[in-house]
Amino acid sequence: MLKHRHTLLKVKSFTFNPIQENTYIVYDETKSCVIIDPGCYDAQEKQELKSFIETNELTPVHLINTHCHIDHVLGNAFVKLTFGLPLQIHPKAVEELRAVKIYASNYGLPLYEEADPDAFFEEGDQIKFGNTVLDILFVPGHSPGSVAFVEKVSKTVMAGDVLFFRSIGRSDLPGGNAQTLIHSIRTKLFTLDDDYKVYPGHGKPTTIGEEKKLNPYLN
Ligand SMILES: [Zn+2]
Ligand SMILES: [Zn+2]
Repeated sequence: MLKHRHTLLKVKSFTFNPIQENTYIVYDETKSCVIIDPGCYDAQEKQELKSFIETNELTPVHLINTHCHIDHVLGNAFVKLTFGLPLQIHPKAVEELRAVKIYASNYGLPLYEEADPDAFFEEGDQIKFGNTVLDILFVPGHSPGSVAFVEKVSKTVMAGDVLFFRSIGRSDLPGGNAQTLIHSIRTKLFTLDDDYKVYPGHGKPTTIGEEKKLNPYLN
C-alpha cells in the first residue's frame, strides 16, 4: 500500500483593522506556522494574534505578504519584532509597500510603522514549514506585486485581494490593471482543481469551482 502523507493543515483567520482585512495563521501537525498578511493595528489586535500563537503553542517560521497594501501590512513590524521573522514579499511589491507610509495618515491609520522587506520570493519558489509546502503563484492586477500561496495536499489557496467570494479585487489603485487581474485569475488560479478552497484577503472563503461558475466578474 502506498503511504500517503498525513496532513492536518489548519487555517486560522482574523479580521483586523478598520478595512476588515483577513489575517491568516496557517499551521500543521508539527505546530510550525506561517503568518500571512498581519493586519493587526491596535494593541488589542496584536495581542489577539500573539495569544493565539501562544495558546496553541505554535512556532512562527515565516512572515509573508500576498501584497503590500496598507490593510495587509499594518502588523508586519509587530510580527517581525515579536517573533524575529524576516519579512518576505514579491520584489514587485516593494513600491506598493514603500507607498504605505505616505498615505497611512489619509487612511486614518497614522500609527503605521514601516517594516523593511528582508527577503524576496518569486513564482516557482516554495515556502516550507513543518511538513507543509506553499507554492507561489504570481497574480498581478490588483497590485503589481500580488501573489497567491498554494498548498497542494489539502488543496488550499491564500489568494490575497485577487479573488473573493463572488467578486474580484479592485484594479483602480495605483499599479492596478483590470485586464491583468482577470488574466491572472483565469491563467493561474483557475488552473487549480475545482475543490481548492480559497481564503481571500477580505470576506468569507470560497472554492475555485464555485467562483468559476458563479462569479459575476468572470462570466
Ligand atoms: Zn489590496
Ligand atoms: Zn485588502
